[in-house]
Amino acid sequence: MTGHLIIIGLGPGDPRWLTPAASEALASATDLVGYGPYVDRVPERPGQRRHASDNRVELDRAGLALGLAAEGGRVAVVSGGDPGVFAMAAAVFEALESGDPAWRSLDIRVEPGITAMLAAAARVGAPLGGDFCAMSLSDNLKPWDIVEARLRAAVAADFVVALYNPISSARPWQLGAAFKIVAEMRSPDTPIILARAVGRPDERIRILPLAEVEASLADMSTVVIIGASTTRLIEKPEGDAPWVYTPRFYGERP
Ligand code: SAH
Repeated sequence: MTGHLIIIGLGPGDPRWLTPAASEALASATDLVGYGPYVDRVPERPGQRRHASDNRVELDRAGLALGLAAEGGRVAVVSGGDPGVFAMAAAVFEALESGDPAWRSLDIRVEPGITAMLAAAARVGAPLGGDFCAMSLSDNLKPWDIVEARLRAAVAADFVVALYNPISSARPWQLGAAFKIVAEMRSPDTPIILARAVGRPDERIRILPLAEVEASLADMSTVVIIGASTTRLIEKPEGDAPWVYTPRFYGERP
């Protein structure tokens, strides 16, 4: 089979955060496949076919992309941020695993992008400077029991935790439940970063102590970063938002 499939990360929003390698791959694609708003972020090119779809049909979209590649296309599947982080790359491999065995001889590549938590962290300082982990708070693809058990373990282990998919109209209570779990183990002044639409015109970043944070301050375009016990603020003069950082040393500096 001669077809090509490349799964591309578009970054969080600012076009300057698209890598040159991702740009090149987009320019040479015959077909663009992805969730509508992501496809819309790619400049139109004459002759390039666009297959924009709904967000809930990742596996179908992955199968469509593999099928187009099998017909000899140069297919680009686009995701926001990094395609390997809670996004299309895993869906493509899932479709590949259970799909037409001939698809395995396609030239399939993944082109990385800046994931939301890294863009958010960069805006406020260095909250991910120590050990951290990332979780999707969505219980669409895994049961809430698992989400809760993992969050408890991560907080107990004193990781900084980045929460993707924190809340949506279909999942209104999970983020509040998550903050309650965190509050059982972390101090009320633990810094929480709510970073919304980072790199887009409607970006909004808030830094609040755990005691004051509310789930209603987040939406589905927000990534939430929960500080570890060592995460701290450095105040700026004149009341500007502080920097947030997590030192690389743990406890007292050796
Ligand atoms: N592949 C994406 C994540 C997809 S899951 C990535 O690597 O960033 C979707 C979640 O990502 C959203 O619910 C939100 O938590 C986060 N997200 C994506 N883009 C964002 C942005 N520009 N600013 C803040 N959070 C973002």
